[in-house]
Amino acid sequence: MATNRCDELTRDDFDAGPSSYDEIEPNLYLGNLTAATDVKWLKDVKITHILTVDSCPLPRKIQLLPDITTKYIQITDMPREDFLIFFGDTYQFIDDGIKLGGRVLVHCYYGVSRSATLVIAYLMKKHGMCLDAAFEFVKSKRRFVGPNAGFLEQLKLYEDMGCNIDCQNIQFKMYRLRIAADKVRKAKILPSNFADLIKSDPALTTVRPEPTVYRCKKCRRIVASASNILPHTPHERQIWPDVSTNKSGKLLKSKKSTLPEVLTVENDEENHTDFCIKTYFIEPLAWMSDISHNIEGKLNCPKCNAKLGSFSWTSGCQCPCGTNIAPAFYLVPSKVDWSNAVQNVLVTV
Ligand SMILES: [Zn+2]
Ligand SMILES: [Zn+2]
Repeated sequence: MATNRCDELTRDDFDAGPSSYDEIEPNLYLGNLTAATDVKWLKDVKITHILTVDSCPLPRKIQLLPDITTKYIQITDMPREDFLIFFGDTYQFIDDGIKLGGRVLVHCYYGVSRSATLVIAYLMKKHGMCLDAAFEFVKSKRRFVGPNAGFLEQLKLYEDMGCNIDCQNIQFKMYRLRIAADKVRKAKILPSNFADLIKSDPALTTVRPEPTVYRCKKCRRIVASASNILPHTPHERQIWPDVSTNKSGKLLKSKKSTLPEVLTVENDEENHTDFCIKTYFIEPLAWMSDISHNIEGKLNCPKCNAKLGSFSWTSGCQCPCGTNIAPAFYLVPSKVDWSNAVQNVLVTV
């Protein structure tokens, strides 16, 4: 029987250290690889679900154990791993297991960073806890947990998005661009699974066209909509303010009716955040012909070929205000005109 052979595995077969686990809340355990492969313990505690987040899956002997459902996510404990996209799936797996009356073990190699990240994310969503509270709670049960800095940032972003993925959230857009930039740096091409990062050409949008657009100064072609803008604050390195209270995460209005000096995001009725407009950083757009197979280059108007700006996946761009944005896709304000809906009625594309 496979189970008998599993019983013969000793802790020395693994070097994740002695079996280590803690019950974080009823029926939810957090532990290391040694615990997850300790058949006697799994049986004694009546574990029914194992969520593995590691660079290798569990041995087949464990996967084939009767009465245990397993789920495996391949991820290394590196800060720039895209962990956030799994939070929804892993929440569901843990929640289903507990709702079925089972006992769930979440583990990685040491039970410190990756597995702790998923348990913290689960508690945040399940109990509406803030990141700090969930982290402290897990720490109170397992004192040495410590998600790496990149995972902590992702948990913060998850918190800002209300424990869901919000594709309109500006911080989330920048997060995904940074992940994509890592891929472009390595592969010299944008992988096809990031194709959704390249947004449709705002000049060709016929469904719900936006009132505020940016046009090529020379030929008047629309080259960006307000929702394509990725705002930044002046004099910061690259800090994306919390715009979570603004549900759309979009720029809502400008302070002036002409080309604004400063764009404003409405966080709430009293609290406005001013953003620099010395450079218009925007999302990658379908008219930018070279961006998916070049690391950097120029952005020319698709109609008249006038130079409007540049892009760089890797080194990014330093705005005159001092903020460095990477990756960067940007329009130079002197090359484009900003216009609102009233003006747009009079101008055809
Ligand atoms: Zn043009
Ligand atoms: Zn700036």
